[in-house]
Amino acid sequence: MNVNRHERDAYLHAMGIDVWVPRRPVDSLAAGPPRATVIELGRQTAPIAPVPPAAEVPLLDWDALKSQVAACTLCGLHATRTQTVFGVGSRTADWLFIGEAPGAEEDRQGEPFVGRAGQLLNNMLLAIGLRREQVYIANVLKCRPPKNRDPRPEEAQACEPYLKRQIDLLRPKVIVALGRIAAQNLLKTDTPIGKMRGRTYVYADTSIPLLVTYHPAYLLRSPAEKRKAWEDLMLAQKVVTAG
Ligand code: URA
Repeated sequence: MNVNRHERDAYLHAMGIDVWVPRRPVDSLAAGPPRATVIELGRQTAPIAPVPPAAEVPLLDWDALKSQVAACTLCGLHATRTQTVFGVGSRTADWLFIGEAPGAEEDRQGEPFVGRAGQLLNNMLLAIGLRREQVYIANVLKCRPPKNRDPRPEEAQACEPYLKRQIDLLRPKVIVALGRIAAQNLLKTDTPIGKMRGRTYVYADTSIPLLVTYHPAYLLRSPAEKRKAWEDLMLAQKVVTAG
């Protein structure tokens, strides 16, 4: 591949690599034999600007989106992740389940909901006649917050265009928000989860129905609430059937 200096600089910049160039124009360096071997170096101030990620994300297809997420450094979580956790499942699914963020096991395996909460989610799906492979599962965040702390607003904001694009590519018949953090981020509210479940919302500026239920990790701690989660999924099933 033939790349000129400007193109090379743009690639390096896009990869997050600082570009160091002589302060004096290259021509003047080449003009005569240097009298000293010291070249004054400075950071280049105006490389060709790469397209900002936020601007190109709405145009990406699944594979390009996945690659972009894998290379993302938009928030501080990239520094502590093992890998990004993009999402998993059928790209033609009617159901989209959205959790909070990867945990330790998800960070290790690169797949959402693979720990104990994931096991319960799989069983909840089976209970309504769905295998994991038939739905799509993603998170509000693609990277694990250290020590599984709650996502920070700026992290959720940085990650939002990726999830929005996934939703746009998938166009599911229903979105199920798993837990308070997912529900509050998706619906831009601070309403408590107990008040949100049992109702049908619409996601952002789409007409896609969105329902809220308890997070499987919460259900592991509070098994008495499983009945309510079951009712939520039955309501979601009615929405899918009607849609
Ligand atoms: N909890 C989540 O919200 N998402 C995961 O992927 C795993 C646990």
